[in-house]
Amino acid sequence: MARIYDTAKSTLALRQRKRSLLSQLRIRPDILRASLVERYSRCGKANCHCHRDGAKHGPFHYLTQCLAVGRINKFLLKADAQQQAARDGIEHYRQLQEQLEELSQINT
Ligand SMILES: [Zn+2]
Repeated sequence: MARIYDTAKSTLALRQRKRSLLSQLRIRPDILRASLVERYSRCGKANCHCHRDGAKHGPFHYLTQCLAVGRINKFLLKADAQQQAARDGIEHYRQLQEQLEELSQINT
C-alpha cells in the first residue's frame, strides 16, 4: 500500500511541491529493488551441534530479488561492505519510490 500524501492543498501549493519534488528527483547509481534477509541454517554434517541443540549456523545475509512468481535471484553477501552497499541501494530505491508516489498523487 502506498503512503497517502496530503494533496488537499491549494493548486499553487501543489505546483510548488511538485516543482520541489522534481528538482530533488535523482536516480542513484546503486539503486536496488531487493531485500536483505538474515538466515540461520543447519549444515550437512550429521554429527554437528546444529543438528542437536538447535543452535543453527549464521546469520547469513542474502540479497533477494523477486523477478516473477517462483523466480528469485538470491546472493549470499559475506562482507559487511557488501551488506551495507545492499542496505544503501535498497534505501535509495525506497526513497525514489516515495518521491514518484507523491508526484503521482499530486498529478492525480
Ligand atoms: Zn552444523
